[in-house]
Amino acid sequence: MNADLERLIALQRLDSAAADARRRLAEEPEREKALEARLETIRQRVAHAKHQLTDNKNARAALEKDVAVHQGRLSKYREQLMAVKTNVEYAAMQKEMGHAQTEVKAIEDKMLERMLEADDLAAAVKKAEGELAAEQKAIDADRNAMAAEHGELQASLEKLAAERAGVVGSMNRQTLAMFELVSSRRNGVALAEARDGICTICHVRLRPQVFNTVLKSEEIVQCDSCNRILYHVPAPTPVVQDR
Ligand SMILES: [Zn+2]
Repeated sequence: MNADLERLIALQRLDSAAADARRRLAEEPEREKALEARLETIRQRVAHAKHQLTDNKNARAALEKDVAVHQGRLSKYREQLMAVKTNVEYAAMQKEMGHAQTEVKAIEDKMLERMLEADDLAAAVKKAEGELAAEQKAIDADRNAMAAEHGELQASLEKLAAERAGVVGSMNRQTLAMFELVSSRRNGVALAEARDGICTICHVRLRPQVFNTVLKSEEIVQCDSCNRILYHVPAPTPVVQDR
C-alpha cells in the first residue's frame, strides 16, 4: 500500500477518535444540568411536603385558639348562671351554653382530623427526605464517574495529538494539505471507504477506472462527488484463493 495512504488512514482514525472525545467533553455541561434538574425535582418534593406539614401545624394552632375562645365563653356563662334570677333567663343561658359546647365539639373534631393528617404529612416529609438522600448519593456517583471520564478523555486527547504529530511529521506536505482541506469541508471526515464500486459515504458509484485504481491502493484517489480520499479494505482472505 502507498505509504501516505496508510498514514492518511491512520490520521483519519486519530482525528475521528479525537472528535468523539471532544464531542463527549462538550456534552458535559448538559449532563451536569440534567443531574442538577433531577436533584431539584426531589428538593421541590421535599419542600412541598414540609410546606404541607407547616400548613397543618398553623391550622391546628388556629383551631386551638378558637377552642380557647369558646371555652372562655363557656366558663363565663357558667359564672353568669349563678347570678341568674328567672327561669326564662336560665333557659336562655342554657341555650347559649349548648351552642358554645356544640362549637367546641365541632372544633375538637376538626383538630383530631388535623392531628391524624399531621402523622401522614410527617411520614411524607420523612419519605421525601429519604428519597432526596438516595438521589443525592446516586448523583454524586454519576458526578464522580463523569469527572473520571473527563480525565480519561483529556488524557486520550493528548495521546491522540502526540500520535497525530508523529504521523503528520512523516507525511508528504501536499497530501497532508489535501487531507486537511477535505477534512475541513467534510465535517472532519476526509476519507471514505470504496466498496463494491461505491463511495460508502456519499453513496455515489465510482467510475470503474477510479475504483480499480483504489483497489490497487497505490495512488491517492479522491471521490469525484464528495472529494474524500478513497481507500479499500481488502476482504478477509479466503482459505482458497483462485483469482
Ligand atoms: Zn464520495
